[in-house]
Amino acid sequence: MNCDDAYLMLLEAEPEELRGEADSFLSRHVRSCPRCRTVAEHLSREQERLRAALGAVRSRVSIEEAGKRAAREARLRRRREIWYGIAPVAAAAGLAGIMLMSTGSPAPGPLGEPTVTVQQPLPPIVEAAPGQQIAVFETDNPNIVVVWSF
Ligand SMILES: [Zn+2]
Repeated sequence: MNCDDAYLMLLEAEPEELRGEADSFLSRHVRSCPRCRTVAEHLSREQERLRAALGAVRSRVSIEEAGKRAAREARLRRRREIWYGIAPVAAAAGLAGIMLMSTGSPAPGPLGEPTVTVQQPLPPIVEAAPGQQIAVFETDNPNIVVVWSF
């Protein structure tokens, strides 16, 4: 085995092979070649650092807690998706309601003094026959008018 072959194999080697402790061609080469041993030791140190870093991450969050967090996140995501689906429809319905209201009546103007409407009583319409006299008497009650024909 030459060093070029060993370099390629070092990238995927098991920790025992990197330390030269396995019974393999690569491990024997690492034990006999100072140049490849230096590379293998460097890779082994970096793998240990990575393992330690991952171990620190794992110890902060348990599998159960990670599962609960994932379920919580999934529920929140579903609620957000539902809300994002409903919100545009609700907004469109509200806008349509506003448009209907605005077209149904004129826009309200500024409030002024209230307008007082006085209802004028209409004179009674009575047609007298030829030769007939009619007298109309108004009473105190504007809804009652006495019509006297003679
Ligand atoms: Zn070598």
